[in-house]
Amino acid sequence: MKLTVLGCYGPYPAAGGACSGYLLEEGGCRILIDCGSGVLSRLQRHLKPWELKAVVLSHLHFDHTADLMVMRYALDYARMKGLFHGALPLYSPPEPAAEVQRLLYKELFEAAAIGAGEPLQIGPFHFTFMEGVHALPCLTMRVETEKGVLVYSGDTEYFDGLVELAAGADLFLCEANFQEEDMVHSPANHLSAAQAARMAARAGVKKLLLTHLHPERRAEVSLEEARQYYAAAEVVREGESYTVGE
Ligand SMILES: [Zn+2]
Repeated sequence: MKLTVLGCYGPYPAAGGACSGYLLEEGGCRILIDCGSGVLSRLQRHLKPWELKAVVLSHLHFDHTADLMVMRYALDYARMKGLFHGALPLYSPPEPAAEVQRLLYKELFEAAAIGAGEPLQIGPFHFTFMEGVHALPCLTMRVETEKGVLVYSGDTEYFDGLVELAAGADLFLCEANFQEEDMVHSPANHLSAAQAARMAARAGVKKLLLTHLHPERRAEVSLEEARQYYAAAEVVREGESYTVGE
């Protein structure tokens, strides 16, 4: 399984960067997980959006969905030119329903609800979802193929279940929006780099990549804080591809 990081920032991109977007590929099947601002541009370095098998959204905050609003125009163009038929499958939590509805312009996406405890198979990718702790319903996800296991935190605060979901994963792609200095204010909705690293260590994952980085917080600080608990922690690099498992 190949993971390509198209964008890694939240809740808004750094200069020249992009918000959350991850391209997964295996055996010619390509799916996009989250589609924040800047992701559509980066995606097209790899494929046309209508060549995707599906889009899966962790949740409906704009830093994970914004570029779907303009991807609709690309799909509309492709349909008009006969390059694309039907609709692109779009899997997301069903709430907020108004946000799902907003994406369904000209039925270019075919929306399907996903939820905790409901497995999903897309090509070679088998998804298991668990509800995170966030301002909106947000799904953390374990993606398994015959070749590897990826666990993606989505946006979430700390909860024990994520350690279980991540157990033994080849790659744990975990949000780390906060740093230690933020934690004295008991902030809501996100994890710190140290929390991500402690979970990675407890879950016995083979690799930890910190993502959902805040554009105003220095990534070197996040990395240093994470490495106190998980020595091999890394910060994702936009544009980089990572092999998950084999
Ligand atoms: Zn969010």
